[in-house]
Amino acid sequence: MIQKPKGTQDVFGVDAQVYKYIESYTDNFMNLYNYGYIKIPTFEETNLFYRGVGESTDIVNKETYDFVDKGGRNMTLRPEFTAGVVRNYIENKFYSEQISKFYYFGSAFRYERPQSGRLREFTQVGVEVFGPKSAYLDAEVISLAYRYLSGLGITNLSVKINSLGDKESRLRYNEVIREYLKNDYDNLCDTCKDRLNKNPLRILDCKYDGERDYIKNAPKTIDYLNDESKEYFENVKKALDLLDIPYTVDASLVRGLDYYSHTVFEVVSNIPELGKANTLCGGGRYDGLVEMLDGPSTPGVGFAMGIERIMTIIKELEAFIPKDTLDVFVMSLEDSGFAYQVVDDLRSNGFSCEIDYTGKNMKGLWKLVSKYEPCFILIIGEDEVKGDYITVKDNNTKEETKVKTSELIDYLDMNI
Ligand code: ATP
Ligand code: MG
Repeated sequence: MIQKPKGTQDVFGVDAQVYKYIESYTDNFMNLYNYGYIKIPTFEETNLFYRGVGESTDIVNKETYDFVDKGGRNMTLRPEFTAGVVRNYIENKFYSEQISKFYYFGSAFRYERPQSGRLREFTQVGVEVFGPKSAYLDAEVISLAYRYLSGLGITNLSVKINSLGDKESRLRYNEVIREYLKNDYDNLCDTCKDRLNKNPLRILDCKYDGERDYIKNAPKTIDYLNDESKEYFENVKKALDLLDIPYTVDASLVRGLDYYSHTVFEVVSNIPELGKANTLCGGGRYDGLVEMLDGPSTPGVGFAMGIERIMTIIKELEAFIPKDTLDVFVMSLEDSGFAYQVVDDLRSNGFSCEIDYTGKNMKGLWKLVSKYEPCFILIIGEDEVKGDYITVKDNNTKEETKVKTSELIDYLDMNI
């Protein structure tokens, strides 16, 4: 028997309702902030991710799904969206506009060891803003993430922020950290040995080395910011205070991707069900990325969050799960097929509607009513067809009314 691939999920039933709810919540929510929906390809040229995400990251080192297509091109399933959104931004020359705000929602793919909160195909929602470099914009993006999650009923959130500084500050910091790690080289894991040259900051975020006290006690980026970067970070914090967003500065936060500068942040949930996979959202400013991908130098800021982790929390808050409702269940108790016409007509008029196709008797039909919990039950028997009326039962009050067939739509419109 063929089973679903390791690390993937089928989403159905209640889970599907929660998923669809989050999707439509996202569309409404993003509209409040004036972000436009963008859909990008599921796969891109492999090179985009090497350059856009960074060769010293876990994602590109070992987590990508790569394939050669029939034309001999190297392709990769998107492990994240930012690189693709930036590629689109450059390709369509959006940099001629002062500001571009995008949001996305869709699958990302990473060849990881599947475990709770960690899948091989998972869903990300995220935003990217290009153009202005403003501390208020960093604060908008952070507050958007926080309020998005709060609006889903999720409490117990903590927002962690840090600053990596501008290019100059990062270069200075790189020297400091290389010097600090000089005598520790032999103790580093193989990936981190490589990172020491390419991007030593990544070592602090390593799943192995990052847990060692020696690395935990390493110098912090925040202590090596130049004056401009320091001021920028202060302004971000002030803007967050203005918006009443609770946050803590976490000097050891560096994030998993190569392209960040200045502000980095995470939103973490404290519910035990998530275990170690409790980071819901990660993001920051990436002022160098558009240029790295051959566009003109353009500031950018954004985040991505994992929908499956959010769903785990929402399912804990059972009351929050919105139930799909069925307006009408039609019981056909005669043979002319008239009831099926009624169902078709109701659906065309915007009522959700269901009918039985298996020839159930009365008892079976009432079982279906219990299952679907419709607002109204329509009873269509021989008497009804002859008399040109339909018996309409309110499933809540249990009251029955005879409604003329021609007045059915109006009647339901008034009562649903
Ligand atoms: P982690 O440190 O947990 O591996 P990350 O830094 O790789 O996270 P990002 O690339 O920042 O994660 O992705 C943003 C968000 O997407 C994460 O905070 C998480 O909620 C979600 N996410 C990332 N990888 C997975 C995965 N394999 N399965 C489910 N969700 C994921
Ligand atoms: Mg990861």
